[in-house]
Amino acid sequence: MSSFPPSGLPQTTTLRQRLADLRGPAVPPRPLDARALAALAANPGCGRRALLDGAGVDKTALASALGSPAAFGQSQFAMIRGNSFEAKVKGDGGAELLRLVYEHLGAGADAAEPGPAGRARVPDLTAAGPEGRAARTALALREATAAAAWTLLDHPMLALEVAGSPAYLEPDAVVVHPDGRWTVVEIKSFPMIDGTADAAKAGAAARQSAVYVLALERIAAVVEGAAVGHRALLVCPKDFSNLPTAAVLDIRKQCSVTARQLARLTRVEELAAALPEGLSFDPSRPAGELTEAVEAVEAAYAPECLASCELAFHCRERSRTADAVTSLGRSVRGELGALTTVGAALAAAAGAGDQDDPTAAALHRAARLRAEALESAALPTDPLPEALGCPC
Ligand code: SF4
Repeated sequence: MSSFPPSGLPQTTTLRQRLADLRGPAVPPRPLDARALAALAANPGCGRRALLDGAGVDKTALASALGSPAAFGQSQFAMIRGNSFEAKVKGDGGAELLRLVYEHLGAGADAAEPGPAGRARVPDLTAAGPEGRAARTALALREATAAAAWTLLDHPMLALEVAGSPAYLEPDAVVVHPDGRWTVVEIKSFPMIDGTADAAKAGAAARQSAVYVLALERIAAVVEGAAVGHRALLVCPKDFSNLPTAAVLDIRKQCSVTARQLARLTRVEELAAALPEGLSFDPSRPAGELTEAVEAVEAAYAPECLASCELAFHCRERSRTADAVTSLGRSVRGELGALTTVGAALAAAAGAGDQDDPTAAALHRAARLRAEALESAALPTDPLPEALGCPC
């Protein structure tokens, strides 16, 4: 096996080429978004996801080619509804959106309420390519902070380096307050009923907002007077109407957890270096070859993957085939220590395991207690099923 990176080539060029080979020469890279990063941060021990996302592999296409297509994603109808609600919220120069930000988060000392359309600044952020748009966004943020005026950045572009690869992120909006605060705004089409949104959906929005805040903090560090708010604004339809309402998301915890987990992600270079030459995740390759390629990178399957990763059905199947306890959940995995398979855990419970291992001994004792409890519960026989003529 040849070494990677080969000596004599600049590492960035070599890495880019290596990732392109892994993706498939004719396959364009799939950019990382905040949703993917939030999911990546939720499972930092999974090298498979880190490498596939870092290489820009289309995991949806890969999962289909492996024969385990992903079963989640937004329907066309939900996307159209979401886009039309977002357009409504941002209409009229963002007047309603800024009013909601002012109402929930204020403006800062002595600053006035944002006025009707025309008084708030809405800079043009168009530029060529994601790098150009990210640079334009950074400039607009600097200018808005210096101007100390209400400014709405509509779909700004933020850059964040993750596991050695740049990720470009596009929040729905960032509002600059007159006091120099920057607030992330997430606009979602799920309803907020009686002022409360679905906890799981609001949690996902909070994790996504935390990723944007981390990217904004890198820009704010070099802008005088700027401060990134750790309270994001979630805007949703009110009850069952199409009228916007908002709630503040306190994302301090999500920010620190996401920062810690993204920093812990195994670097893509190390993962790519450990793979044999010629290995590829190109979805046009035969399923058997792709299965081998995917298996070459270590995964950390947990049932939570089903809600966040396109490869979840494939990884679950492999985890079950390997009899791994990971398919039972992270807490069970943590409790079982050195017992990594369901078979080993059952053997330990039956007393066949190493009884010097405290986990095996505890399992055996628990199994004994359970058997005793069942035995005593079985006597006397419950007369009710018999009285009812139940065949069981
Ligand atoms: S589904 Fe597989 S690849 Fe995706 S995060 Fe889980 S273990 Fe990793």
